[in-house]
Amino acid sequence: MVLRSPGQPLCETDLPQPAVGAGQVLVRVSACAVCRTDLHVVDGELPNAKLPLVPGHEIVGRVAGVGERAERFKIGDRVGVPWLGRTCGECGYCRSGRENLCDRALFTGYTLDGGYADFAVADERFCFRLPDSYSDAESAPLLCAGLIGYRSLVRAGDARRLGIYGFGAAAHIVAQVARHQERKVFAFTRAGDVAAQEFAKSLGAVWAGDSNLSPPEELDAAIVFAPVGQLVPQALKAVAKGGIVVCGGIHMSDIPSFPYELLWQERTVCSVANLTRRDGEEFLGLAPRVPVRTEVESFPLAEANEALAHLRTGRLRGAAVLVTDSTPD
Ligand SMILES: [Zn+2]
Ligand SMILES: [Zn+2]
Repeated sequence: MVLRSPGQPLCETDLPQPAVGAGQVLVRVSACAVCRTDLHVVDGELPNAKLPLVPGHEIVGRVAGVGERAERFKIGDRVGVPWLGRTCGECGYCRSGRENLCDRALFTGYTLDGGYADFAVADERFCFRLPDSYSDAESAPLLCAGLIGYRSLVRAGDARRLGIYGFGAAAHIVAQVARHQERKVFAFTRAGDVAAQEFAKSLGAVWAGDSNLSPPEELDAAIVFAPVGQLVPQALKAVAKGGIVVCGGIHMSDIPSFPYELLWQERTVCSVANLTRRDGEEFLGLAPRVPVRTEVESFPLAEANEALAHLRTGRLRGAAVLVTDSTPD
């Protein structure tokens, strides 16, 4: 991790800058949101991470350099760098509009260095322009919590009654989009997490309660963001015939066995993996129209470990975002 110790003075020229290759941009990072996936990476729960590694895949910054043949952005442009860092463009998945499943994909902050840093490099083809109405820190959580949340919501189809299990960064964004689409949102949190339940209600949830409770009415779909396998049969119990349970996380504890009866009547369980650039364009176009308001808790870059600890223990409202000295006020 490229981290600065507190109080250590650093002038611009002292900052280590990664080499910029062809087709890449050098990004002076101003904000990087902290995602649950970062915790899984840091904890070694995901295989084949690049080591040593700079985590972070919700990067907002300004272009500070462009590599050969990089033409999409100019110096000073604000860009967002998401989880999907690179795809092969050739495999069956890439060629069928499913680049999120690319056999040779590389991921920011996992198999490529990410944004817990002053500088990052990114393949310009996978960077996004960000809506002007968001500050750097506010737009960072849109890049994964928002994007993966959006992909999960699309997978839920036209469900009118939507359950959301785990009310963190992704859920707080999805709930707003779902409300905008006139869906009814039911929020499930850790048992007794009254603060998260109140937060969910403040974002328009019609009901919020402990994840082991049954909602007051049947659901048409449920999205499980919490990395807790037990919630899958729980959510299946809550969805109506023909309903779908979408698992939105990259890692989950084992799902306990459950009676077939819970799946019977054409219920579906599926997962959502990564994102496509199309998801990004769609969601970043939609977010300012909702408008999605992101609730962020900022930490200096040097306190990345504290931010991760807050996420681990659920002591966050909305999303944690690491900010650097270059973050505009
Ligand atoms: Zn591919
Ligand atoms: Zn993420």
